[in-house]
Amino acid sequence: MTSPLAVGERIIALLDEGLFTATYKYGVLLGLLDLSLERGADVGQGALRVTTAQLAAKVLAAYWPQVRPLPLHEGIIPRQSGRGSRDARIVRLIADYKQRTAKEWASPFEVRLRRHDDYGRLVIEVERVLIEMPLPRLQYVGASSDEFLYQINWTRDVSRTLVARYLRGERTDFDNVITLRPGVASALIQLNGLLRPLIQRSWTLKVAQLNHLDEMVLHDFLFGQERVALARVRAPLAELQEERCFYCGERLDSRFDVDHFVPWARVPNDNLENLVAAHAGCNNAKRDFLPAVRHVSRWRARFDPEARESRELAGIASGRQWPSEPAATLGTARAIYGKLPSSAKLWVLADEFEERGTASLVL
Ligand SMILES: [Zn+2]
Repeated sequence: MTSPLAVGERIIALLDEGLFTATYKYGVLLGLLDLSLERGADVGQGALRVTTAQLAAKVLAAYWPQVRPLPLHEGIIPRQSGRGSRDARIVRLIADYKQRTAKEWASPFEVRLRRHDDYGRLVIEVERVLIEMPLPRLQYVGASSDEFLYQINWTRDVSRTLVARYLRGERTDFDNVITLRPGVASALIQLNGLLRPLIQRSWTLKVAQLNHLDEMVLHDFLFGQERVALARVRAPLAELQEERCFYCGERLDSRFDVDHFVPWARVPNDNLENLVAAHAGCNNAKRDFLPAVRHVSRWRARFDPEARESRELAGIASGRQWPSEPAATLGTARAIYGKLPSSAKLWVLADEFEERGTASLVL
């Protein structure tokens, strides 16, 4: 079993390693972090098995908002690989797709809902890149490979024909499983609050360097939440909550916000279950803190199939064509809250906080 500290140190070493000319390693690391959060709570210290297709969906989601013109920069989409080479293939795929359909879909999940075939093809192309490039190369620090994060059953020399046949859905002996070593998923969950900002910052620095841009401007462009898109579910969420603020329970005014219950800074999750209507004041006071246990207990009702909330949420998701992944969202919350020390500060209301304590929390 690997200790969290050891995993953290090795990932920091990876971030410093200059082996990659494109930004793929950041995408892969964030993708593994997301999958550990969604699926890792149940494996404990065990090994977590995920597939290359699952990782591809996460990596696609990370790149998607980044492939758009930079404001005030003559409509240029920031490069994500060195000048000598063509731009990173994942970036080209997304840029081509957006140009071809002339649509600004808010997220790949929206493409999945509205244009299922296109989405499938994009994921397959991202999966091809991951299999051939970063996955078999990522764990090289210096000249030696050390599979400290995950184990896969192919190498850098994998046959492209074999991969192509696998991606066409033919029966092959290509094994698409990525096995996170025992303890790694658990460590990633525990270190999420440290590693995510660190990986995002390294990614930002790399893109700033490649494009001669200011890092401060770029971070929000690459990783900020796009509030505009949330407008589509704003009114139905308020209705679901009977026009009351999710946190303080008082009536909503006209300027209320859509808030990410598990904060966006902890995990970028736009699924409907994770969105609540809240006063702008309550939302601002909450910032990137996790909500207190009392809020979690109320939020939990959204996942109870018998509860009115869960039925109405399902109705909103299909009516507004908004992504909804209850199991993944709940899994993520379970993973994050499960790793909190009893001294962790949770947000109650306004400037009031409380410690996580030892009270049991059903998630
Ligand atoms: Zn409020």
